[in-house]
Order: sequence, then C-alpha cells, then structure tokens
Amino acid sequence: MTVLIIGGGIGGLALALTCHQIGVPFKVFEASRTIQPLGVGINIQPNAVRELYALGLENALPNIGVKTREYGMFSRHGLEIWTEPRGEWAGYKWPQYSVHRGELQMLLYNTLVERAGADCVETGWRCSGFENTEESANAHLVNSATGEKRIENASLIIGADGIHSAVRHQMHPDEGPPIWGGAVLWRGTARGKPFRIGASMALIGHGTQRIVAYPISEADPDTGFATINWITELTYDPGAGWNKEDWNREVDASEFLPMFKDWSYDWVDIPALVTQSDRVYEYPMVDRDPLECWTQGRVSLIGDAAHATYPVGSNGATQAIMDARKLGRAFFDHGVNPSALKAYEDEMRPPTTRVTLANRGSGPDAVLQMIEDRCGGMFDRLEDVASHEELSAHAAQYKSIAGTAIEALNNSPDIIADGAKVRLV
Ligand SMILES: Cc1cc2nc3c(=O)[nH]c(=O)nc-3n(C[C@H](O)[C@H](O)[C@H](O)COP(=O)(O)OP(=O)(O)OC[C@H]3O[C@@H](n4cnc5c(N)ncnc54)[C@H](O)[C@@H]3O)c2cc1C
Repeated sequence: MTVLIIGGGIGGLALALTCHQIGVPFKVFEASRTIQPLGVGINIQPNAVRELYALGLENALPNIGVKTREYGMFSRHGLEIWTEPRGEWAGYKWPQYSVHRGELQMLLYNTLVERAGADCVETGWRCSGFENTEESANAHLVNSATGEKRIENASLIIGADGIHSAVRHQMHPDEGPPIWGGAVLWRGTARGKPFRIGASMALIGHGTQRIVAYPISEADPDTGFATINWITELTYDPGAGWNKEDWNREVDASEFLPMFKDWSYDWVDIPALVTQSDRVYEYPMVDRDPLECWTQGRVSLIGDAAHATYPVGSNGATQAIMDARKLGRAFFDHGVNPSALKAYEDEMRPPTTRVTLANRGSGPDAVLQMIEDRCGGMFDRLEDVASHEELSAHAAQYKSIAGTAIEALNNSPDIIADGAKVRLV
C-alpha cells in the first residue's frame, strides 16, 4: 500500500504529511543530498493556508512569514492604481502568508520527521524513471553521490520532482525543455522598513519591466526592520535565448540595476533594497505547456511536475499544496489505487491548466500594462484613465480562475475531515 513520493519540495512534503495524517504508508525520495532552505519569498494563498492549518501548522507559520494584509499595483512612477485587502482582511476565513520558500520547506520537512521519523525521507536518491506492472509500480533510483542504483516497489508513485521532473519526462519524452517566454527575474532579500501598511505586497511597473516587493518577516520591534523580498523583472526577445534556468544562480546586481535606478519613491526605495541584498539570484521565467494527461497507470504528478507555471499570481506553492490535499482526499474516496489518481487528475488538471494559461496572458497584473498603454504610467486622476469597475472586474476574474474566490472558499467543506483515516484493504 506504500505511496512513493519522488521529490521533497513543497508539494512532495505536503503530500507526505497528508499521507501520514490519513494513515497511508509512504516514502519520500529526494535527489538533493540534504534538504536546505533554498529560495526567497513566496506567497501561500488562503486556500492552501487552510490546508496547512489542517495539517496542524497554524502556530508554526508566524515563525516563517507574515500574514499579507494588502496587495497593490503601482505605475512605474510609483502611483497607486489598485489596492485590495488580502487574506482575513479581505473576508477569507484564512490568511494569505508571505514566507521564505526555504523556511517553509524546512518547516514541512522537520514536522514530517518529528511525526513520522527520519526514515520516511531518503535524501541523495534521484529518480531516473519508473515502470508499471500489473499490481504495482517500480521507481528506478540512482544515488546522487555514488551512482549506486536501486529499484523500489510501491502501490503508487507520485512525481513531485519539480519543473525538470524525470517522472514527467518519461511520460512525455518528446516534450523538450521548459519554455522561456522572454522575461528574466532577479530576486533577493534585504532588511528594510516595511512600506505602506506594513504587510503590503506591491507590484510596480508594466508588462516588460516591473518589480514585486513584500515583507516575509514581522518587523523587529527594536529596529523596525523586516526582511523584504524583492523581484525585478525585464522582458527580452524570447528568440534571444538565456542561461539555463536554475532557481539558485547567483549574479551581480550591476547586470540589471541600472534599468531600475529611478525606481525610488517616497514609500519604497527599490535600488536601495537591491544594493543592500547579500545575494542576488537570476531566473529566466519559464513554464511548460499544459498536459493532456498526467497519470500513467499507477504513476501520477503533482505540483510543478504536473503544471509548472510562471511565478506570477503567487500560485506555484499554493497549487502544489492543493494537489497534495486533493490527492489525499482521492485516497479516501477511491482507495490507494489508480482510480484515485484518475479522480485527482480529473479534478485538478482543468483548473491548473487555466491558471497556467492565465499567467501567460492576462495574469493578475495585466492591468499594469493597460495603464502604461493608456498614459505611460503618469496620471493626476486615475479615474480619467480607468474606471474602478474595470479594475475591480479584472481582479475578480483572476481570483475565480485561481480558485480563491472568497465566498466559494469560505463555504467549501474540509477537503480532509479532522482525524479521518483511510481504510487500507
Ligand atoms: C531550490 C529551489 C528554489 C526555489 N526558489 C523559489 C523562489 O525563490 N520563488 C518561487 O516562486 N519559487 C521557487 N521555487 C519553486 C517553488 O518551490 C515551486 O514552484 C512550488 O513550490 C511547487 O513545488 P514543487 O514541490 O512542485 O516543486 P519544488 O519545490 O521545485 O520541489 C521539487 C523537488 O524535487 C526534487 N527533485 C527534482 N528532480 C528529482 C528527481 N529526479 N528525483 C528525486 N527528487 C527530485 C528537487 O530537488 C526538489 O526538492 C524553488 C524551487 C527549488 C527546487
């Protein structure tokens, strides 16, 4: 009855915690030799925070992030276009959290090891492929240090192995590498004074040049400083090619900072934040085409392996957590078998496909480009450029695509009832 989870990132660990919670035997194989707190800021939307609470992490989340109170869009001149409350302040029963990705991964990992024992995660084992047999499935594993090979047998295999998924590659061998659409991100964190109302997430600029900034820690009561996550983004000709995407490629800020030297406002000074950051990471923004199918027999995919999307709209980690919980739910309804995988895919593939496509086109911040086109981002009265109704309709549309509409979420039943265990037959 064991479920083999390939990849100990956000999605794989959320699934492992879910399996432990509902009594399904599991094992995680992670390619990295140690699990380290890599990455910078990410956001977890209220639907996924609800699931982290259901996993018993409510009291731990304040230690690794802040409850986001406000989301705002600003022109490249720093002028306010649209702001809206977030999480509990918007009427959700659960908050939105801005956290450090690596600290979230460590929280999930440490909680899992505490609850299920250290043996449930084996690091240093890379999955190279799988095979379905009549009654089970085999995962082929290679030791990342020694090259030693082994085969693990299980009832089901779940590829949670990220955007370069080996499991997905075997299912879709002709797919090719992730697709670069022309945007390059540079990311970092610096200590600074939280701006606006303290836990505000700001998107500044327009379609081809923009900045995202938000705090990922509470302000220190003595200094008033918090850790501020920032992302600068420039768009190039996609035909030009770029360095291989890697979330952790360090670069010098001089590669992009001159393009943002004037992006300093009375409420936030972006060049100062960039200059004060110890490390800057570059990431060519890539995604993958949505798949027609992500299950083969006893093997399926979750998270980025299933639906890698542009990191706009704060949905990557959220969707990975939701996949994990919906798959756990499918084990209740269908048992730990291929029918559960099919039910899970039938439920999750259509909405995640819509999010991937929405993020390519009119993502949540297409409004920024609309304002840039109409007035170059400079205006005295916003209402002369765009009506409140127009801006509001745009925000509501993306929320309903991403599955985070307030009433729908607040009124939806628990995905997994508290204390429920799967009956293993
Ligand atoms: C090191 C790192 C840093 C990141 N930083 C950011 C960031 O700063 N901002 C942001 O928005 N997103 C970041 N991401 C992506 C973000 O975590 C995901 O988009 C999202 O959380 C979905 O999670 P996931 O579990 O599907 O994938 P991931 O979180 O990418 O996890 C995939 C895991 O699978 C492991 N793995 C890969 N191949 C194999 C294999 N063949 N066998 C076994 N294990 C394998 C990887 O080592 C990784 O631990 C980062 C991802 C990684 C891996």
